[in-house]
Amino acid sequence: MKKFYPITFLILLIACQSQTQKPENSDIKKATEDYWHQQPLRILQTVLRQPDAANYNVDSLIRYMNDVHANVLVINGGGIVDYFQNTLPMANINPYIGDRDLLAEIVEGCHANNIKVITRVDFRGVHKERYNLHPDWFARDENGNPIILNYTTPGLYAPCYNGYYRNEHSVEFISQLFEKYDINGIWHNSVNFHYTCYCDQCQLKYYEEYQKEIPVKSSPEHEWEEYYKWNKIMANNQLALMRETVKKYGDDKSYAAEVFNMYSIEQQKHTGISLYSAAEYFDFLVTVSFIANNSANVVYKDIYYPSALVRFLKSLEPEKPPVILFGGNGTEHRYIYDPPLDSRLWLWEAAATGGGFWNCYFNGSSPANTLDQRNAYLASDAYKYIHENESLIQELQPVTDVGIFYSKASGELLGDENFSFPLKGTLRLLEEEHYQYGFIYSTQIGIRKIGFNNLEIIS
Ligand SMILES: [Zn+2]
Repeated sequence: MKKFYPITFLILLIACQSQTQKPENSDIKKATEDYWHQQPLRILQTVLRQPDAANYNVDSLIRYMNDVHANVLVINGGGIVDYFQNTLPMANINPYIGDRDLLAEIVEGCHANNIKVITRVDFRGVHKERYNLHPDWFARDENGNPIILNYTTPGLYAPCYNGYYRNEHSVEFISQLFEKYDINGIWHNSVNFHYTCYCDQCQLKYYEEYQKEIPVKSSPEHEWEEYYKWNKIMANNQLALMRETVKKYGDDKSYAAEVFNMYSIEQQKHTGISLYSAAEYFDFLVTVSFIANNSANVVYKDIYYPSALVRFLKSLEPEKPPVILFGGNGTEHRYIYDPPLDSRLWLWEAAATGGGFWNCYFNGSSPANTLDQRNAYLASDAYKYIHENESLIQELQPVTDVGIFYSKASGELLGDENFSFPLKGTLRLLEEEHYQYGFIYSTQIGIRKIGFNNLEIIS
């Protein structure tokens, strides 16, 4: 039987009347002076498979982006496999590229059409041949064996927050991208680690802090709690280093990675990278928002999920643009289109609350050139709406009758299931009864900071 927790203040409803925040003219002017990544974003990503790079058609891509009002491209940079002429000793250049400088062509073509280019880097692991060059750069389990991610074939040898691969090597890699290409930003894919590393660097740093070794599976819980605090500092050091590397090339260069699911608190604790980290280190806030989950038994999410996400991201860091990452061609069925009507509702739910878009195509080509093109122009009018109203959208503050207090500490206390279940129920209640709501993130607590008048707490 499900245990009932009386700690209902985890989702504290605060009945309140907020002021409708109508942007002043001076605010609208300010919006146009901000960096591009502070404005509502209209992103397209084509995730290249290795053979896609050989015939990647830049002209066709740009035509498509102009047609659908997208103004930012996210494209493969490298890490596991490199999509540019990488000259570092650990390079692993995609053999299908040959001598072609694909990234140069893409950047040149996009910039000529006022489209920004963000390159995706992924330092989650390397194949065995590269691992063998520098085994000491990578993570080790508690028995001293390399940690291998076996969800790919062949498996990837994984690094850690403190090793050379994710520090010096990653800095050199990102620096090379900026020095060779006039890119506008970095997308840091697979930013967090779900395992504990026992490599020499980690053990040394841990010993310096606590004068003891990193806990093992059989260690008591309080030792693990200590470890999680330390791991969080290591993770944030990593994000700070990546951000600093990007910003060396200009404040207008963006650094971002995925913002995690608002229902998953445990993952944040165990990986050391949390929503707080995202708010601090990323220039814009992106959360995956696919209509269906990525599993054999497809479960469709509630249709209001994107608007809940946008409201949540706005509470996390109001100054940074919220973006939902969706897929015109779905997620687990990556070559088959998502249901169009649901997809359009999905997008307009997000747009109505001030969210930007990231259409992620796993098919390699631009959507107009994929095998299944039925959803290629599905999002055009929603993107156009954001384009035409970007100054207003940037300053948008929804009128809010109800604030949901989002407490990360309560989530850690209760665990994911007991935290997310009542939260989802509350969202459903508010949406179905047409209450306008927002989130109050725990960092914003303090009546003056929240900005609500006539505060009355219902618990
Ligand atoms: Zn390590």
